[in-house]
Amino acid sequence: MVEDYAASIRPTGPEMRLLLEAAGLVLAEDLRADRDFPPFPRSTRDGFAVRAADVNSLPACLKCIGEIRAGASAEQSGITVGAGETVEIMTGAPVPAGADAVVMVEHTGRDGDIITVQRKLAAGENVVAMGAEARRGDVMIARGTRVNHAVTAVAAAVGRAEIAIYRRPQVAILATGDEVVDINLRPGPHEIRNSNSYSLAAQVRAAGGGPIILPVARDEADDLALLLRKGLESDLLLITGGVSMGRYDLVEQVLASFEARMFFTGAQIQPGRPVVFGEVTPGEGTTPFFGLPGNPVSTMVTFQLFVRPVLDALAGARPQPLLFAQAIVKSEFAIKPGLTRFLPAELAGTRQRPEVELVRWQGSGDLMAVARANCYIVVPPERERFAAGEAITILPW
Ligand code: AMP
Ligand code: MG
Repeated sequence: MVEDYAASIRPTGPEMRLLLEAAGLVLAEDLRADRDFPPFPRSTRDGFAVRAADVNSLPACLKCIGEIRAGASAEQSGITVGAGETVEIMTGAPVPAGADAVVMVEHTGRDGDIITVQRKLAAGENVVAMGAEARRGDVMIARGTRVNHAVTAVAAAVGRAEIAIYRRPQVAILATGDEVVDINLRPGPHEIRNSNSYSLAAQVRAAGGGPIILPVARDEADDLALLLRKGLESDLLLITGGVSMGRYDLVEQVLASFEARMFFTGAQIQPGRPVVFGEVTPGEGTTPFFGLPGNPVSTMVTFQLFVRPVLDALAGARPQPLLFAQAIVKSEFAIKPGLTRFLPAELAGTRQRPEVELVRWQGSGDLMAVARANCYIVVPPERERFAAGEAITILPW
């Protein structure tokens, strides 16, 4: 459902950005090779450029006729290696005409200009052929790719100090609840500070969105309506709290008065069961929204499962499936069956044996538990217990 909706979204832009200011945003153009990559047959080793046929029988003795450094001058790279000859070469230097392989310096001996080779080589060994990585004009990175360090490297390699990216989606965040107070205020004895707007803002920012935190809405229809209307001016509206079954859970009711189209109300997961997803056409343009449950861990889980794909699409990124992994249960545990569970857990152990253990928690309001975790254990609805040593699915952060 979320995936289908995400596929229908058209991102806005493009705009040009300085390369270093594009990190985390999404490419709105294909990055093409401005020349062949590599632009010359490149040696991947320090050693000697040879004709592989010359080192068929060992030890082979070759005459060294020169040296080629990385960034070689025309004079250096004009050398041709003939039968029985070799040229000393450095990593990143162009392999000269005539040679078809590079033998590592570690596998050679030297006496004056006579080089002894102690290892056979196949043609092409330790050489990346000109254009083997990309041909001039090839798409190196496709539109819709998020700009990370590796994409930044490609943009730099093709000489792009500025690249076209999609506009960063603006995400309004609206916390609701009579008990919820802003973090700059002193909470009364039965009030709590608004942590959800901040955890959501952090998740939005990490996903390449621009968070806009609205004032906390009272559990009261008029106040909620006013702030919802404000939030609908953004590209996406995230509401937390007020979507459960309580008498003052008014979010759905107020959204209905806005003639919202609801795509789903509720999911068979825990935490996060009351999550709602829909869209409103407040004036010109349509704004998607999520009503996320107020329990802090529910808010975090439902963001990762449902909001993230929509935010990716608004940012112009091609849809990415959630990445799950497998680990070994460290200590046995029991759970109530019926819903797919996402339980805060700590992944540790070794590369050969990744182990995962539930963090002790007091339920989906327990912020401290989730702050100690680094993944969720995913429990299918039919399972009631897991034994130590069993394989289990995890959802890393
Ligand atoms: P609700 O979904 O409104 O029924 O809230 C569920 C639980 O989450 C209640 O214990 C709320 O006090 C808590 N909660 C709701 N909103 C927030 C918030 N913005 N920050 C921290 N906790 C919240
Ligand atoms: Mg509430």
